[in-house]
Amino acid sequence: MKRKYILLPLAIAMVAPLAASAAQREIISPDGRIVVTVADENGTPTYSVKYDGKDFLLPSPLGMKTNIGDYTSGVTMSGKVNADKVTDSYSLPNIKKSKVDYQANRETITFEQNGKPVYDLEMEVSNNNVAFRYLLLPQGPTLCCVVDSEATGFVMPDGTTTFLCPQSGAMGGFARTSPSYETNYDLDAPMGSNGWGNGFTFPCLFKNGDDGWTLISETGIAGDYCGSHLANKQGSEYVIAYSMPEELNGFGSTGAAIPLPGYTPWRTITVGETLAPIVETTIPFDLVTPLYEPSKDYKYGKGSWSWIIKMDPSCNFEEQKKYIDFSATMGWDTVLVDALWDTQIGYEGIEKLAEYGRSKGVDLYLWYNSNGSWNDAPQGPRDIMSDIVTRRKAMKWMQKNGIRGIKVDFFGGDKQQTMQLYHDILADANDYGILVIFHGCTLPRGWERMYPNYAASEAVLASENLHFSQDMCNAEAKNASTHTFIRNTVGSMDFGGSTLNKYYGADNAHGNKRMTSDVFALATAVLFQSPVQHFAMAPNNLEDAPVWAVDFMKNVPTTWDEIRFIDGYPGKYAVMARRSGDKWYIAGINAQEQPVEVEIVLPEGMPTTGLNLYSDTDKLEGSVKTVKADKKGKVKVRIPKNGGAVLTH
Ligand code: CA
Repeated sequence: MKRKYILLPLAIAMVAPLAASAAQREIISPDGRIVVTVADENGTPTYSVKYDGKDFLLPSPLGMKTNIGDYTSGVTMSGKVNADKVTDSYSLPNIKKSKVDYQANRETITFEQNGKPVYDLEMEVSNNNVAFRYLLLPQGPTLCCVVDSEATGFVMPDGTTTFLCPQSGAMGGFARTSPSYETNYDLDAPMGSNGWGNGFTFPCLFKNGDDGWTLISETGIAGDYCGSHLANKQGSEYVIAYSMPEELNGFGSTGAAIPLPGYTPWRTITVGETLAPIVETTIPFDLVTPLYEPSKDYKYGKGSWSWIIKMDPSCNFEEQKKYIDFSATMGWDTVLVDALWDTQIGYEGIEKLAEYGRSKGVDLYLWYNSNGSWNDAPQGPRDIMSDIVTRRKAMKWMQKNGIRGIKVDFFGGDKQQTMQLYHDILADANDYGILVIFHGCTLPRGWERMYPNYAASEAVLASENLHFSQDMCNAEAKNASTHTFIRNTVGSMDFGGSTLNKYYGADNAHGNKRMTSDVFALATAVLFQSPVQHFAMAPNNLEDAPVWAVDFMKNVPTTWDEIRFIDGYPGKYAVMARRSGDKWYIAGINAQEQPVEVEIVLPEGMPTTGLNLYSDTDKLEGSVKTVKADKKGKVKVRIPKNGGAVLTH
């Protein structure tokens, strides 16, 4: 469905020229609770956001520097304003909610410098969301420009605390693969820090004292712009920062080259008194439209992968065959064959495996290195996805052999040419009917709707870190209850978790010890949203894990129709409900020392009797029992530290 714009009478009648000194306009959300004020005092345009009359963003700068002009000062409203009402209804099977009705009020305000229009500010305000972007305008015969930097800022009220993920430096970490959105969040931190010196990756969560929460992110990049992040300019002011010069081994530009007229990406601000509007927002998808038709009906679903427990040596023909059998026994769709298959299994071996999988109703995903010239990751196959000719040749081979999808890893940052590579891989893969997962990568920016064959991205410190580090195992519950409220709210998250092994080792007796319960593993299968899930379960779990846990994992959905925030706090605990078809799953986890007790009001449509409650004792002994709601339709659950709860029917 296309977004519809209804022009308001205001659009026809040009607003009377505004006074030269200062002007301001208010854009109000359909429910009247958000008021955005755009002003141009002293030739420095700003916007501010109030929610229920309370300050959520103080006057914050607008504008940008380009190679055809500095549009950060001496810029005023021209008096030309178009007002629209935007309505849209769309269905999307691969996000948190399958049917979305979107309504917003939009104003397009033209700004001028020295009497000439230089950019339009498009400000779109829906209930709980503010989104804006710039349309840079041609200057005489000049029909292209480079945007070097932005003044765009976000000035927080005093007393705001931050929940942010530091942007790592470039060309660091494993085989010089950073940045890839794989750092730990600092929770409840004061304002003023700039992370590790490079700012913070989107999405960025702020707590506005007792007034509520603010989530800032970015959407709508289709290879036509660099990815941005937030930098702390000073104190309470955060500004848009572009990709870092050191990314891509120092090659390529940090800014964006655009045609004129040309858009910058949408920046989004989601606000709420509670975390509910942030958990439930669809704004990254509301603002974008599909870029092409799907070449086929893409099937999502779940599967297994050997690498997470058994690592590189398991990428061999016999082990992958065992995982195909395992997926078949679980009733799952796929097996993800991870790195090094090109040398350890070979192309003919993959063809045989794919054929064997087909006989069992299990399709393959294949791992690829994104390289390229941007890092030292030695894992193969290398130098295929980076080039249009080799990439399409490989995809043709995959199509012939019924390969379901690819997982492309180790990207080089957020420069425009890297964003172009994501775009090109997705578009090419659609030509061959292939789903795409990205790892070691940037945050997806509306891609679930823009690219019909996009499945998910990592862009998080994912399950591999549980294998690598006991500290990460110790902090698993804390991190899981963080991602639920931040990373996963704006895009599908390929975490690759829900292990039922006690240890991250092939024999399930050595390696880092899992500190979380089996019910916790079940709960994260519901809490973490991605339409394609490769769970970290292993064939031995058929013998050594509880039958009720294995049975749950056989049946847990990966696509959802509805979502509800119930309770929680980033890094402490998380409880939410998801609906798939007519079935609700309410899932919770707890990272705090003390058990958390939550009184759950059942969503309408959920039965009140014959409910299955998966829960833990304080010693993390899990079980499932049948419960019913009390007379008020409520069910009490108690979740101990590192434990979980799932209520379903
Ligand atoms: Ca990774």
